[in-house]
Amino acid sequence: MIKRLLASPLARISFGLVLLTTSILLVGDIFFRLGDQSSQAVLEARKHLCESLAVQFSVLISERDSQAIESTLKTVVRRNDEILSAALRSNEGVILVEAGVHDRYWKNTPFDKSTPTNAQVPIFNGEKPWGMVEVRFTPLKRGGIFAVLADPFVGLMLFVGIMGFGGYLMFMKRTLRHLDPAAVIPDRVKTALDVLAEGVVLVNEKSEIVLANCAFSRKLGDQDKSLLGKNLSAMKWKSLDPENTTFDLPWQHALKTAESALGVPLSLMTPADGMRTFVINGSPILDDRGAARGAMVTFDDITELEQKNDELKSMLESLQASQNEINRQNEKLQILATRDPLTSCLNRRSFNEHCEQELETAKAENKPLTCVMMDIDHFKSINDNYGHAVGDKVIQNVVQAARSGLRTIDIIGRYGGEEFCILLPGLDLDQAVIVAERLRFRIENETGEVLGDDADRIVTCSFGVSSTQVCEFDTHILVDCADKALYISKNSGRNRVTRFDDIPNDDEQVA
Ligand code: GH3
Ligand code: MG
Ligand code: MG
Repeated sequence: MIKRLLASPLARISFGLVLLTTSILLVGDIFFRLGDQSSQAVLEARKHLCESLAVQFSVLISERDSQAIESTLKTVVRRNDEILSAALRSNEGVILVEAGVHDRYWKNTPFDKSTPTNAQVPIFNGEKPWGMVEVRFTPLKRGGIFAVLADPFVGLMLFVGIMGFGGYLMFMKRTLRHLDPAAVIPDRVKTALDVLAEGVVLVNEKSEIVLANCAFSRKLGDQDKSLLGKNLSAMKWKSLDPENTTFDLPWQHALKTAESALGVPLSLMTPADGMRTFVINGSPILDDRGAARGAMVTFDDITELEQKNDELKSMLESLQASQNEINRQNEKLQILATRDPLTSCLNRRSFNEHCEQELETAKAENKPLTCVMMDIDHFKSINDNYGHAVGDKVIQNVVQAARSGLRTIDIIGRYGGEEFCILLPGLDLDQAVIVAERLRFRIENETGEVLGDDADRIVTCSFGVSSTQVCEFDTHILVDCADKALYISKNSGRNRVTRFDDIPNDDEQVA
């Protein structure tokens, strides 16, 4: 753990500063002797004790009271834990009175020379030196780690070391962050990001830019240094949808949720290139606990691509418009090629084609196909009496009346001038005769008014009905059979319906 802690340059600098501080304290101690002050006080106290004993004993010797001397010595040794033994020694070196095992403690002590543990004070009888009071003290400090730790100076050094390390580390972290946010990004990282054509920006928790690569700075027409510290969210980002004004910026999303926001299209007015469109990705930079401490944001300028897309779109639209026009023209051509302009019925050629198809279907489904031939009666006289325009109108009215009595799947074609052919898919001959009868009735009652109000001014049609039930599955034969039946209707008084199978003898009729 310590190794990992010291791996950080900030921790190493803090450690160095702690060593410097403690070194200063140690040097200060040499001058001011802070560490020795406590032991100095102990020595002073020992000296005072010995001197007062000496004074006391001098008096007792002059009074020859050796008993008081002995009891005093014993009391002093017993009551003072720091004293191991004490004795009164004559000038000749003979121990006269002792307390404790003085001989053992006093070994190898030079005469008349005190040490911190072995104190000796001379005693005088009057003016004459008489002997020595010897007091053997315990060593000043107990040995071992506890003794060292118990020393207040060592404690002070430890306190300064630990608190100093934490304090320096915190102080430097805060200072570096405030002084120069860019300094926390190594140069080699920035150089690598500058190579990219895509804009790359690193933001801190407050969306302030701590790094902007060259591509992004160029887009914003700014020096990359001058962007540092600016709030990326404060720039006027716009959604491509003008109505969407409450969107989340991708880096804000990443900071808020600690999840990436990818492919967000936004536009920004840039001083260098005007309005630009970017596809933006925002990814969170997470700390050890998974919280977002910043975000890396990439900007892909798609303005040109968008313009090309728009051009392509408008090209496609005009292509589509011409395609529609062509289709309309084709439909027109198709109508012109297949329909009769006066009545919109199929022309003869187109009708025959439809008839071929319907015959195929009927054959495949094993169903009958019926054909009704319809011809306006005495139409020539209508033309002659009312004029060609009225004749045209009569033709249109007849078709309209016929159509209103047909289904949408029925097929009507103009076969000649005032002659029409109708296919009734799925109906048999009997049903087709009923339909033809209905058409005849409608035409008789609905189309005459164009000729005037007179009751006798009516338009009628004659009908001939054929079916694959009574003819072959062949367009020409089917139509021909219906035409033959129509011929019978004309010959037998007009304004009527004739079934092909009602013709008694074909040869007879033709004859
Ligand atoms: P029928 O009862 O025997 O059918 O007698 P019809 O007079 O109807 O028959 P006819 O074949 O003698 O005459 C058909 C006339 O229809 C001849 C032609 O001038 C006229 N006609 C053909 N097409 C048109 C057209 O598009 N418009 C007008 N107004 N007349 C047409
Ligand atoms: Mg006719
Ligand atoms: Mg005719």
